[in-house]
This record gives sequence, C-alpha cells and structure tokens, in this order.
Amino acid sequence: MMVYLHIGMDDTDSPSKGCTTYVAALLVERLAKLGVEFTDYPNLVRLNPNVPWKTRGNGALCLRVRCENGMVEDVKETVLTLIEEHSDFGYQGTDPGVVFFFGETVPAEVRAFARDAIQSVVKVKDAVRLVKEFGAEAVGYKSGRGIIGALAAVGETLEGDHTYELIAYRLSTNCGTQRQIDAVSVKVMDEATAPLTFNNVDPETGRVLITPRGPDPILLGIRGENSEIVKKAFDIVRTGEPVERWVIFRTNHGTDAHLRRLTSIGDVQPYQPIIVRGTVTKEPRIIPLRHIIFSIEDDTAKIDCAAYEPTGDLRKAAKQLIGGDEVEVSGGVRPASETRPLTVNLEKMRVIKLARKISLHNPKCPKCSKTMSSMGRAQGFRCEKCGYKSKRLAKIQITEARDLNEALYITSPHSQRHLTKPFRRYGQEKPLDPAVFKMIREWHSPISVEKF
Ligand SMILES: [Zn+2]
Repeated sequence: MMVYLHIGMDDTDSPSKGCTTYVAALLVERLAKLGVEFTDYPNLVRLNPNVPWKTRGNGALCLRVRCENGMVEDVKETVLTLIEEHSDFGYQGTDPGVVFFFGETVPAEVRAFARDAIQSVVKVKDAVRLVKEFGAEAVGYKSGRGIIGALAAVGETLEGDHTYELIAYRLSTNCGTQRQIDAVSVKVMDEATAPLTFNNVDPETGRVLITPRGPDPILLGIRGENSEIVKKAFDIVRTGEPVERWVIFRTNHGTDAHLRRLTSIGDVQPYQPIIVRGTVTKEPRIIPLRHIIFSIEDDTAKIDCAAYEPTGDLRKAAKQLIGGDEVEVSGGVRPASETRPLTVNLEKMRVIKLARKISLHNPKCPKCSKTMSSMGRAQGFRCEKCGYKSKRLAKIQITEARDLNEALYITSPHSQRHLTKPFRRYGQEKPLDPAVFKMIREWHSPISVEKF
C-alpha cells in the first residue's frame, strides 16, 4: 500500500552553523535514493519574522512524499539521523523539531495553524494537540519549540500565491570564506529573466543580493515565479567556486503572507506583522541615526510608525508626510517600552490621500507691490517702502506642492524581509489553485552515485 507522508522540520541551525534548507537538500538526495516519490518540491516556508525568540529568517521546511508503507520506518530513521548529525545542539536558541504527518491532504485545522504561525505567535501546546488529534508523530529536541515550525511547514501547502527559490550550496571546505560569484553575470541574469525573477540586484546600490552573508553553506539563492525560470537564471550565473549541490524549493517568499490586514489601529498587537490605515497626526520627527518616526491615528487609537535608515526610498517618503495625510502602513509591531509606545517598523507605506499643505504669507502692497509687514496681531499690514497701511488686508494662503505622491513605497531590496512582496511581483500573484505548479524533471542536482 502506498502512503503519503509530509515531513516538516525546523530550527536545526544557529547563527554560526548549518542551515535547515541544507538538511532538506541532503534529505532530498537520501530519500530519492531510498526510492520515495516526491509529490511536491521541498517547501520552504517563512514564518512570522517578528516573533521575539527568532532573530534570523525563521524558515521551516516540508518534504512531501509518497512511498510504500513498508518504507516508512526507513524514511523516518533517515530523517532523524540526518537532523541529529546536522543540528547545532550546542547553541542555546536552537531547538530542532520534526513532524511526520500522514495522509494525502492536509486538514484545514493544520492549515489554519500554519497561517497563525506565519502571521502571529503560536504555542507549542497547540502544535502538540494537533499532532495528537491527527495521528501525526513529532520529535522535539531540547525545548521542543521546533515542533511549531515543523507543523506549520506541513500546514502551509502554498496553494495560493507562492514563488520558487533555487538554492545552491558550497563545499564545506569553502564555508566561512568570501563567496565567489561573478557580479556581472548576475546583472546579465537579472536582465534576461526579469520580471520573472526578483531581488537579484539592489537597484539603489548595484549590490548583488542573491548571496547571503555569514558562514552558512548557501552559495546563492535565486527567486522567481516558476521553477523553469530559476533554473534558467542559475545556468546564466557564473560562480568562481564549485557548487556542491542545488535544489529548487517552492516558497512563500515575496508574497506578503505575513501581513494581516486590520480594520482599526485599536486592534494592533505586539509581534504581529500588520497592515492598517490611519491619518498622520503631525510632521514626522527624525531621531538619531536618521530614523523617521511619525504617528497615525483613527477613531480607536494612535500608534507610532518607524522608517529606519536602511529602508531607503521608504524613509525618504516618510520624511515628507504632514499632519492630515492618509496612509496605509505595513510592518511588524514592536512592543511598547518605557520610552516609546507600540511601534510599527515599516516595510511598506501606501499614501492614500495627501493633505493640502498650506503656507501663510503677508500680502503685497496694492500701491507698490512690495511685501508688507504685519503691524501686530489683528492690527493689519503696513508697507515699509511707501507707507501704505491697511487693516482690511489679511494673510494670503498658498497651497504648496508636495514632494510625495499618492503611491506605494516599499523598503529597499537589501532591507526587505524574505516575505516582503517586492515591486516586481505586483501583478504576478498566483490564484488560489492547488494545481498551478507542476514538477519539472530536473529540480535538484543529479544524485552522485559514488557517495553511496
Ligand atoms: Zn507700498
């Protein structure tokens, strides 16, 4: 009898060692060798980037396979052995978790749990309850918190909008050294594949964005709308070091899946990525390090919004706001502290309606056209040149041009979250349809026989 198995895993890595996507890439090879059939690309699911205990990308993985019932024990043992070999158990914040979920489809309750883990903060006990309810199996190491991400990866079936990422890995002997990528070839690739790939190069600085920093085993990651295009893009990029292996993942990168739209500011909670509308209360203030802070309000509450220096154009736009502007802000919510209130760290801002910016000027002299001087409050105006006086003349209102458009502003690509939808993806969102993806034949590097 054939069984369907969803293998979720999370949190095997630490800032100094490993990468859960690499464990998934190794598993792809080992499970393929065992003879399982993959029913989907490996899913790379980014969870709420604002949960307090996660400082990195907060990505969880799910492998979805079909195999003979008699192979299940071998599959489970292969998974657990590999995770135990590759997890950084010594790091305090690393709490690996694995979930084995059986069945062709994933129940609505588990999909709802995934949505909460992407948009909000969920508890280990809720994950454990679902695991028991649906007869799944979970292995949690240390605190067991990794079960949350593992189950969420199972539950996020990416049936709505989704994207692809081809990740190529380095030889372990090269990890920790400078990545050798030909920047010119990345720009050529960007031009050849736009708009179907995204976040290859930072348009503001020209910096290559497909390579991460740090000691992890990822050489590069190319993001795009389908599996063919990321493979084509990968074939264009020239690397100055060997690629150990590569895999195409299906992901929620660049989909804004983390943002939950709220109808009133009073509903804003800490640690949640949100979208909310409000009216700017007054001109923004600039705080040290050139951050811009402003407040918005509606009938229910008032909240601060912060645009940090690296957000580029978004920060420049925020600086131009005035009281009365109507905006829709998107971003993660930082809890209030003693010195500052609840604050939205801006990822995006849509200017919905600009307020009129009015300035008041003294009138011109009707006799000689010189600008007149005020004789004091409600005392009228006097011309210094010809001596004409008038109590009837009033200040003139002038509507000033605004250096801001009723438009969408997004943080610069180099400071975007994995989940932030970039400009290039607008209009390319995929509809809710589980059948929209098909697996191409070459979705991972050829299996090297000599390793077995
Ligand atoms: Zn005059």
